[in-house]
Amino acid sequence: MKLNQFVIIGLGRFGSSLGRELIELGYEVLGVDRDEELVQEMSNVLTHVVVADATEEETLRSIGARNFDCGVVAIGDDIQASILATILLKDLGVKKVVAKAVSDLHGRVLERVGVDRVIYPERDMGIRVAHQLVSPNLLDYIELSKKYTIAELAVPQCLSGKSLNEVNPRGRYGCSIVAINKPKGIIIAPVAKDVLSTDDVMVVIGTNSQIELFQESIGQ
Ligand code: ATP
Repeated sequence: MKLNQFVIIGLGRFGSSLGRELIELGYEVLGVDRDEELVQEMSNVLTHVVVADATEEETLRSIGARNFDCGVVAIGDDIQASILATILLKDLGVKKVVAKAVSDLHGRVLERVGVDRVIYPERDMGIRVAHQLVSPNLLDYIELSKKYTIAELAVPQCLSGKSLNEVNPRGRYGCSIVAINKPKGIIIAPVAKDVLSTDDVMVVIGTNSQIELFQESIGQ
């Protein structure tokens, strides 16, 4: 399903940052908050803004919330409001509802009321930053499952000028370099003779332990 129009409930730090980025990416965003000042601040940024209490069904109905492909409930502290807004968006028929949770229990309740996806921005960012702090060359990663990861690793000096054949992470550690992002462009499915340089980013796929071994071998 391609999502084009978003309604964001709550324009705090998370909701406003999300809204800005969606606009940058070329999407239409309706921002809703009960705080008039915040709404005013975002009025030049988002496609539409409304001062409203998102726990009132009639209000959500009157602003046409159901016409949006995706609703994001970005209310944190007021857990009751977050849950009510989520239920109302789902009941109004918004296809995809994503909600931010401030705790595990909050997330579990959101799941019980039928949210399509729960996000834990603080918890997830904490985990991400911890990984990046202990492995300075780890730029980013995606956990494919509990066992498998795709990691973006900066190429350290010790690998600069070496071909994939020489580095041979697959033969040595079991993980594979599936792409090399070079300043001039990305090489997808690189071949043995492709050479790494310090400006490059390697995209590596493998089990967590294979990737860890590879990282340790290159001194990270
Ligand atoms: P952030 O970390 O994103 O700044 P937060 O986790 O501290 O947010 P809150 O400040 O509680 O979360 O909520 C975010 C925004 O949601 C606030 O601007 C608040 O005014 C708005 N908000 C809370 N309840 C409602 C509601 N019932 N209807 C509309 N907006 C609401």
